[in-house]
Amino acid sequence: VLKSRLPNVDVPLQDLPTYFFSRMRQRTALATLDDSSPRPLFVDSDTPSLALALDELETLATQLASGLYHAVGVRQGDMVAIVLPNTIYYLAVTMAVLMLGASCTLANPAYTAGELAHQLSDSNARFVITARANIPAIADAIEKLAQSSPHGLDQTLRNILCIDRAADSPMIGDSDKHLVRSIFDVLSQQQFPRALLTDINRLRTTPAFICYSSGTTGLPKGVVLSHYNIVANIEQIGYAIRTMTPPKQYERTTLAVLPIFHCFGLILAHSLPIQGSRLVIMRTFDLARFFELVEAHRVTDTMLVPPILNAMVKLSDTAAMHDLSSLRWIISGAAPLGPDTARSLEQTYNGVRVMQGYGLTESSPGLSLNMPKASRVGSSGQLLPNIQVKVIDDSGRALGEGKVGELCFRGPNIMLEYLNNKEATRHAIDVDGFLHTGDVGFVDSRRFVFVTDRKKELIKFNGFQVAPAELEGILLQHPQVRDCAVTGVFDPLRQTEVPRAYLVLSDVASTAVHADEAAKTIVMWMNRQVAYYKQLRGGYVIVSAIPKSASGKILRRALNSAPTAYDEAG
Ligand code: AMP
Repeated sequence: VLKSRLPNVDVPLQDLPTYFFSRMRQRTALATLDDSSPRPLFVDSDTPSLALALDELETLATQLASGLYHAVGVRQGDMVAIVLPNTIYYLAVTMAVLMLGASCTLANPAYTAGELAHQLSDSNARFVITARANIPAIADAIEKLAQSSPHGLDQTLRNILCIDRAADSPMIGDSDKHLVRSIFDVLSQQQFPRALLTDINRLRTTPAFICYSSGTTGLPKGVVLSHYNIVANIEQIGYAIRTMTPPKQYERTTLAVLPIFHCFGLILAHSLPIQGSRLVIMRTFDLARFFELVEAHRVTDTMLVPPILNAMVKLSDTAAMHDLSSLRWIISGAAPLGPDTARSLEQTYNGVRVMQGYGLTESSPGLSLNMPKASRVGSSGQLLPNIQVKVIDDSGRALGEGKVGELCFRGPNIMLEYLNNKEATRHAIDVDGFLHTGDVGFVDSRRFVFVTDRKKELIKFNGFQVAPAELEGILLQHPQVRDCAVTGVFDPLRQTEVPRAYLVLSDVASTAVHADEAAKTIVMWMNRQVAYYKQLRGGYVIVSAIPKSASGKILRRALNSAPTAYDEAG
């Protein structure tokens, strides 16, 4: 077992809202010594007048907590689904839910009704908070659940809350099926039972966020991240962020591009404000707009995924039209970053430093990060404080420094469990408390982590998880698919993995003159049922059989090494 070389950080024994607001007040107390004007914490990238300062955030979160309690009926232990794009209100919403001792399950707003229905039912969500663009998909998801639940639908789900104001959203109101209200219409100043957690056992076992991840195998599962996990990782990542100081003449300003519903964006949205940053929140990513915003807001740091860094290198001409001199730090994570990309980016953008980090949803997510005075090319960074690593071979034997094997981690940020799934939890976390990541790599003497391969089934499209088992499950429902397998292939143009399907067609389809037509139809049918990033952009290949092991496991590597016809179906 190898330990982090960094000094341990203390994990405060506080629930997330108590911790966050008290840390923020300490920070503000320091800042106001020389500057009395409150600096907004969250600013909307498109409408800068849409901003929240710390006091406003805390008031909004508290009044919303009261409203959720009195007008909506949210209670301690309830699960609330948050289906939101990046917005300045994101943390106000999650903090309100957490203040009541309820938990948030975070969903991708790009989800189709089918995907939402699955997450709502799997997490046992009783309430939904969303934005107006997502109301139709959520209403459809609730209908699907109502039709499929044998015991009838929990009627509270028909209460949908929306972060838009009633005047801006014609969908707000009471239809025969749903009651849609604006969060601003339920705010209340009445007292409510604030669920304060101070006991270590309760902090460790009370879920704050349920994020979905397929882990090393199978379908997406609810990753239960406790208050303790989240507070720990905010502190662990904060340690590294403090070392990335903004250029002297600028105040720390972050362009928040990564989705907050993903664990990486979520932690950064908490950790960066604590480290003194103002977050400019970008709703949807667009590279040309990104350059404009860096210039307009004098952005000093941002967090991106490798395909965006690649696009930045290619689009350096557009970048040259902007003054990007404030930009100093780019943290890259969620997928491997090639050393060449990092180097060309730093050469093209004078003064910018790229810091690669590594982690996973199951570890809240931060495990390692490069830091200005401790960075190694090609590495995913130094083990963060309080983290231990064990590298094991196929038989589970621990290997030493520099030896390649499966990376396993232990620390205060490792998830509590997979929701309602003891078997998957047992499979992921061993008896000694180490999380088995399914990632392959090694650790050097200074505790830099190098991720060299992945042995789990996961496909990552632009940093988003695509679980092969989920797509296979959908494809198998099609009457013309006899068997199938989905694997990831690297798309050099997009600089990301894309999912590809291997299809064994039913007798009828495969004897048809146009087997190819049949396959195309199947792929189009599948693509309609999933969010954009799960679509079969790697095309399809018609095969006569799927190679499987004696125990019936799909031999994915054998599929990918077979010569194939590349057919783009995206
Ligand atoms: P997620 O749970 O969506 O954050 O995905 C976690 C997975 O993304 C990890 O298990 C890795 O396979 C991959 N990943 C994240 N960061 C890196 C990195 N810096 N290098 C290589 N793979 C990464």
